[in-house]
Amino acid sequence: MSDLTSLSVAAMQAGLKARHFSATELVGAHVAAAEAARSLNCFITETFDQAMEQALAADHELAAGTAGPLAGIPIGIKDLFATRGVRTTAASRILDGFIPPYESHVTAQLQAAGAISLGKLNLDEFAMGSSNETSAFGPVISPVRAEGSEAPLVPGGSSGGSSAAVAARIVAGATGTDTGGSIRQPAAFCGIAGIKPTYGRCSRWGLIAFASSLDQAGVLARTVTDCALLLEAMAGFDPRDSTSLDAPVPAWSAGLSGNLQGKRIGIPREYQVEGMDPLLARLWEEGADWLRDAGAEIVDVSLPHTTQALPTYYIVAPAEASSNLARYDGVRYGLRVVPEGGGLVDMYEATRAAGFGPEVRRRIMIGTYVLSAGYYDAYYLKAQKVRALIVRDFQQAFTACDLLLTPTAPTGAFPIGARTADPIAMYLNDVFTVPSSLAGLPAMSVPAGTDANGLPLGLQLIGRPLDEASVLDAALAVERRAPPIPAPVPWWRS
Ligand code: GLN
Repeated sequence: MSDLTSLSVAAMQAGLKARHFSATELVGAHVAAAEAARSLNCFITETFDQAMEQALAADHELAAGTAGPLAGIPIGIKDLFATRGVRTTAASRILDGFIPPYESHVTAQLQAAGAISLGKLNLDEFAMGSSNETSAFGPVISPVRAEGSEAPLVPGGSSGGSSAAVAARIVAGATGTDTGGSIRQPAAFCGIAGIKPTYGRCSRWGLIAFASSLDQAGVLARTVTDCALLLEAMAGFDPRDSTSLDAPVPAWSAGLSGNLQGKRIGIPREYQVEGMDPLLARLWEEGADWLRDAGAEIVDVSLPHTTQALPTYYIVAPAEASSNLARYDGVRYGLRVVPEGGGLVDMYEATRAAGFGPEVRRRIMIGTYVLSAGYYDAYYLKAQKVRALIVRDFQQAFTACDLLLTPTAPTGAFPIGARTADPIAMYLNDVFTVPSSLAGLPAMSVPAGTDANGLPLGLQLIGRPLDEASVLDAALAVERRAPPIPAPVPWWRS
């Protein structure tokens, strides 16, 4: 029954309801797909037995009519969400042996809706990266390959296990987190959809912190409707997160129409950057035509501080990370390395040196530097001021339009190893995704076409705060008109 793995979440829900297949068959097919795809390295921790037990329980609930909206739907959880009784690593050695005694709010909500997790998905260490290559558990190999090539490509990052597992038909959807693009860029690289909602829509409680003023949970799935279905289960007010938004969660999936009558879509001219793939530039124009066809009016807008967003992000995010990661000291949980005859400080140093990978150490050093007494005003404070200007840019643009259309990333996926030696080249990947993160806006990537090598490219829609509904509708309009991205040929099947 391997074709069960190509169904959308919506089709799975319908099939379960109509008894065309059971949750046990559905989850079983996905477990089999996951077992045959171990070479992709999507999972850090597999929970297949637990998933099969939950599928059996879901079948009873479906029969009794007590099942939640996502009963029996196989998903994956980025290993940055704490899961009760299941090892949680943040793809770092520093959390060695950590088994949370609590469940994150987002994953608890998914469980309450009946979704079944197959396990914890690989990511860049502490979600710092754009290629999933900084993971202490090794890189994820993208299921996607360039035409006529067997070279392994990155699945994007940091939610690379999530994007690869969804694209490889191992799970129907997966949670992701997005601090500066980590849902949208991997979704684009793997030819799937991904949405980061408004900052505060999903609770950060139980989400391992990277940069708290930017971190936001969201979802990756193969269709826009599936993103809506999963996101509406994940979002919601949680008093345990002081930045959680106390706003009702709309029934996004039910409200989707793809009709953009009366909507104005802005094209920010500053997003025309040097080095953009010419096919991507053409695709961006085509995307605007599709939205026009769906009833929207296209307008030119300006976001003058766009070029300052990347440097601002790479000051603010490491600053917050250096503070958040100070808690990993070998005392309370995770790894502890005590050099012989060493004291407390020796233990701190040895634990952190052994526990953090090079990218995380780089961020801690940058962050500590920009927060230090002599440099705080020159870097951190300045970055905070520029961040305010970036927020204002968006506010001004949204007086002239309702949504923005941009590319998601400047290029398609790149080969494993191609950018690891050059952190700046890696950071440049985030040029289109960080501005909306700094402004806390809802933003989504939707597959739109392919590059010269047949690799998927995504377009990004950015909305006003709390207007995920319009973002999803415009993404649906693109999805309906874009040439469909075929499922990757399963070359990895063992
Ligand atoms: N690539 C960006 C970074 O390395 C974004 C990561 C993220 O969104 N978690 O910081």
